[in-house]
Amino acid sequence: MGNSEKQRIGIVGAGAAGLAAAWSLGRSGRFDVSVYEAAAHVGGVATTRGVSLPGRDAVRVNDQVLLGTPSYRNTARFFEEFGFSLSPTRLRVAMGTGEARWSTARATPFIARMRPEIRRFRRTLELVRRAPMPLFLAIPIDAVLRAGRFSADFRHRVLYPLMSLFFASGVDSARVPAAVVAGLFLDEDSRLFDLDAETFLAPSTPITFFPDLAEVYARVAAALNARVHTDAEVLSVVRSAQGVRIERRGGAPEELDAILIACSAERALPLLADASPLERLALRGVTYQDVTLVTHTDADYIRHHYGDDPGNGTQYYVRNAPHDMTRLEISINLGSCQPWLPEGAELSVFQTFDPLDTIRADKVLFTRRTRHNRATPGYFLRVLPLLRRIQGRRRTSFAGAYLMFNNHENAIVSGLAAADHLGAPYPFSEEPAARLQFERYRRAVYG
Ligand SMILES: Cc1cc2nc3c(=O)[nH]c(=O)nc-3n(C[C@H](O)[C@H](O)[C@H](O)COP(=O)(O)OP(=O)(O)OC[C@H]3O[C@@H](n4cnc5c(N)ncnc54)[C@H](O)[C@@H]3O)c2cc1C
Repeated sequence: MGNSEKQRIGIVGAGAAGLAAAWSLGRSGRFDVSVYEAAAHVGGVATTRGVSLPGRDAVRVNDQVLLGTPSYRNTARFFEEFGFSLSPTRLRVAMGTGEARWSTARATPFIARMRPEIRRFRRTLELVRRAPMPLFLAIPIDAVLRAGRFSADFRHRVLYPLMSLFFASGVDSARVPAAVVAGLFLDEDSRLFDLDAETFLAPSTPITFFPDLAEVYARVAAALNARVHTDAEVLSVVRSAQGVRIERRGGAPEELDAILIACSAERALPLLADASPLERLALRGVTYQDVTLVTHTDADYIRHHYGDDPGNGTQYYVRNAPHDMTRLEISINLGSCQPWLPEGAELSVFQTFDPLDTIRADKVLFTRRTRHNRATPGYFLRVLPLLRRIQGRRRTSFAGAYLMFNNHENAIVSGLAAADHLGAPYPFSEEPAARLQFERYRRAVYG
């Protein structure tokens, strides 16, 4: 097929979603693909930074996207295409402080006290899973647990701290639909957490670490059958019966046949100068919260506030604010989350989300401000059906992790699904488990 006969597709955003879509469209040979990325680098929030530490060589660390699960099958297959793999390991957490402490390292008296509620929690989730889906999509987990007379300690010191690893905040964990929480713990194919009657989180809960993500996405971008423009923020998208016209930084306006918008909903809407009322309603419905990430070397902060020895391999720490148990602070031992560093390496590079206390200024390496979309009942019941109605209409498709659950697997699947919808068949059909994730996503987002 000559270039002039190919459909011209523009992709806004070179994160995981945009690049997965570009790869799938490009390899089909039927599309002339251009990717426009606002930043100077590809990969979106999948970043790797070099950090210099006193007295040792600089090391590279993935510093945003860190953890997956064995259910990230499309991610694994996609990475395999470029010679990378995910590294299997086990999830190690230390939650709470003082008498309310629990961890995957050992069963504490606190978690022993919670055992009757842990057993009841499993039964509750089993009931939730047996109910017709829309019912418990409409009800936040906190409402279900309060109705079941679960204690505040169980909800705010056991369950929400663990869920916050996925939803980035304790407040938001309480609002997650009960049906989604049931999936996180019980779904055969995509659960994140293994429930254990004794320890709550099974010490054997499998997770995967990502390879050097900057390297992965640089290699992906270089191998694409597509043009990738960085420092090329798209400023406006205008659709007409004839095609799509985009304006962007660093280049002349371009004419396309269709546009795939693979950035966040809040950045997508302002681009659409001619947004329809439905597009406005759908994209405005996706709500975000700010999260500040401080990357630092303040090991005393971790010792003092979590009572943990940073050299013992714990990956995630979560604690409740002393006077408000609904507020959580998450810290990550970045040294324990990089597969290329030896297990137990005492790198002493940490990351704290929305710090509750002061981290020593001379120990701060860098600070990022990021945005996380919220997974509330309103999102699944009201906003997702609206997003479904704007997909593939007016020469415009949408991809990105925000479209279902904000994780890397979902970002990849969203890109492959958008490409499939445009006419580039889903590439991993030979793998039933990967295909299942894709079909689930397609049903939810395309109907
Ligand atoms: C701090 C943090 C930690 C996370 N940790 C994990 C984790 O451990 N595991 C996990 O599975 N998931 C994690 N996630 C979820 C993460 O969102 C997904 O993993 C995934 O990488 C997101 O990919 P995406 O392509 O949807 O979006 P993004 O990576 O956000 O990519 C969107 C791209 O669009 C670009 N863009 C925006 N506007 C424009 C424009 N106008 N023109 C051109 N380009 C534009 C942006 O610059 C960006 O590069 C984390 C997210 C964050 C923020």
